[in-house]
Amino acid sequence: MEKRKGQLNLLCDMGELTNLLSESVDIEIFFQRAVRLVAQTLKADVCSIYLFDNRANEVVLKSTIGLNPDAIGKVRLKVGEGLVGQTMERLHPICEAKAKSSPYFKYFEETDEDRFESFLAVPIRRGVEKVGVLVVQSEQENYFDEYDVMTLRVIASQLAGAVENARLLIDMEHPGGKQKVVAVANGTSFIKGNPASGGNAFADGVIFKKSHGGLMTGFEKQGKQYSLKDFFVALEKTTNQLEDFQSKLAQRLPESASLIFTAHFMILKDAKFIGKIVDMIENGISPPQAIRTVAGDYINIFLSSQHVYIREKASDMEDLAGRILDNLHYINEPDSDHRRGRIIIARDLFPSEMLKLATEDVKGIILVSGGITSHVAILARSMKIPLIIAERPELLDLPDGAPILMDADIGNIFLYPSEEIIQQYETRNKTHKAVTPLVGKRPQETRTIDGHRVRLMANINLLSELTLARDLNAEGIGLYRTEFPFLIRNNFPSEEEQYLVYKRLFEAMPGQGVTIRTLDVGGDKALIYSDTSSESNPELGLRSIRFSLKYLDVFEKQIRAILRAAPPEESLKIMFPMISSVDEFREARRMVDTCINDLNSAGIAHHPNPQVGTMLEVPAVVEIMNELAQEADFFSVGTNDFVQYTLAVDRTNQKVASYYRPFHPGVLRALERMVVWARIWGKDISVCGEMAHEPQFIPFLLGIGISSLSVDPQYLADVQDHISGFKLTDAQIYAKDLLSQGTVQGAWEVLRYYPPNERYQG
Ligand code: PEP
Ligand code: MG
Repeated sequence: MEKRKGQLNLLCDMGELTNLLSESVDIEIFFQRAVRLVAQTLKADVCSIYLFDNRANEVVLKSTIGLNPDAIGKVRLKVGEGLVGQTMERLHPICEAKAKSSPYFKYFEETDEDRFESFLAVPIRRGVEKVGVLVVQSEQENYFDEYDVMTLRVIASQLAGAVENARLLIDMEHPGGKQKVVAVANGTSFIKGNPASGGNAFADGVIFKKSHGGLMTGFEKQGKQYSLKDFFVALEKTTNQLEDFQSKLAQRLPESASLIFTAHFMILKDAKFIGKIVDMIENGISPPQAIRTVAGDYINIFLSSQHVYIREKASDMEDLAGRILDNLHYINEPDSDHRRGRIIIARDLFPSEMLKLATEDVKGIILVSGGITSHVAILARSMKIPLIIAERPELLDLPDGAPILMDADIGNIFLYPSEEIIQQYETRNKTHKAVTPLVGKRPQETRTIDGHRVRLMANINLLSELTLARDLNAEGIGLYRTEFPFLIRNNFPSEEEQYLVYKRLFEAMPGQGVTIRTLDVGGDKALIYSDTSSESNPELGLRSIRFSLKYLDVFEKQIRAILRAAPPEESLKIMFPMISSVDEFREARRMVDTCINDLNSAGIAHHPNPQVGTMLEVPAVVEIMNELAQEADFFSVGTNDFVQYTLAVDRTNQKVASYYRPFHPGVLRALERMVVWARIWGKDISVCGEMAHEPQFIPFLLGIGISSLSVDPQYLADVQDHISGFKLTDAQIYAKDLLSQGTVQGAWEVLRYYPPNERYQG
């Protein structure tokens, strides 16, 4: 009976199966999880997956629980050979009450399988494609029945898509070759990366090159002669294009105010730059050659500077020269833009580069370094640009124009995808669009089944996200990351510019409450125009509140802008990032008091009594919560950094991504302790890091007493749905269970059985 119940649960909740792949960092782990889940569901002693190798016409043992793991990769059966080979040949389930009596039974010494009596195998097929065989075995005779056959068939069909994708990863002839791009049949290659910003894209790829003249070669048509007049036409076309970009950018990103292309415009207006090119052309040098020579000289000068922000100008110059050359090349042809509509592959990107790419309407981005909680990733999510991080530098060697299909929802990259793969993704896209929740029809409030109210707010990075947040009934802004207007510019925004940006937040959310976090630069959010970008260990460097407390004039302007922008009748919360001591908090708070006094004296309208609180991101605060909670008006846990610093794992480093475990007992227990202290002192505490939108962590957070969450607007509907699907009392039991685990493995075991199963259902 228990077995039936488990099967029913799994059949009803196929999400658990299909999520297996997207949640597995590694393909081996995916297979292990799949066999373990199936064995547990069918209460079988063994579950194995065999993959079909079409080149050898064999099935190969890929993963097993119950058989000797040393047999993985070694047991190979021709199609038709043994019970497994028979299943692949007949493409039909085989159920044997006593496997050893079957004429097809074949024993492999390395598997230790002679103790298993009952055998059930079903083929895994994807359309007409043979994918492999799914097998369960039991020590008991006559153990599997018709219902098991049905269950296993359903599971196999659910797993087929994921297994097929996974199979593309496996180079059967070179099992050790995991680090190369794996070529599969018909020229398609597959790479598994980490999804950092969701969505799909199918387009030609182009490599994003920085500052080395890469874009400036090969632009003229063979044998074509260009005149001085052509050069001026190309120059004018380039100016017009950039102005057009600039105005599009101003619409899409009001906080950029202007200025992304400042350097470009300055160079275009520079009489010396233009004059040198004209001189060369008049002296018989071809226009493309003249542009390259002069731009090359500038690039060398920029690159030799000791200031990072000047070195950065080299990429502006390169970009500009590339555009002029491009326009020269296509002098009488419609506008061309070598990145428009393409998928960009880059080693890394600055946030400002990401924004430029957004104005060029790139379809997607693949980065070969970085982490999914890095700010470039957060920005990509805000701009709705699919982004995958795959630590595969060989991608940078792809030829220009190579077709790429990226499924950034699960991190799959297909190079030269086959028709079949393209079709598969198109179908999925259609289904996905059909189930997107209807904006405007969401409940106003969020409650658990047993009526516990949760305040659901939005994290805002870019002003363009405000509309979605409002449409999805966000109950205020739980985190406005003020650094974005700073990051996308070439210099500090003035008090006035900031004031205009912050005002928009209150206009969008009247009566809802806005939490504005003061500047959180440094770390992976280096300002190229300040000295934070040259530190050897920036995550532990002059960042966040430390930066503000060092550059008091920058801090003061920001606080004044915030106080002036907030209408007095609105609820304003000012929040400091990365506070590590009560002393630091006091120092920062003093600036708010000073600014209020100054504004009062000057008779300038401002918010008179903001709440002043802090992010909880540095592990040191856990031990001083008692004191901190007596001084701060509210708290918000920044789990992205809290996990990073508690576990000493760089959140932007893909190499250590598997160590970045928010479910580590050290993290979970610390979170609970912080909540307890905040509640003792009656202070609001919310969570605004990525954990706040992850289905397994939401019930944990509610279970330890959190009742407000702040998430990126695109997650609001899902989080609301999720919360309305469980009881607070069950979440409390779940949280207790998690907190009682002293090991990472133990916590993981509890976590992976969420969402609800028998264990927590009342
Ligand atoms: C966090 O650290 O969890 C957080 C919300 O801040 P950020 O991601 O901007 O560092
Ligand atoms: Mg943070």
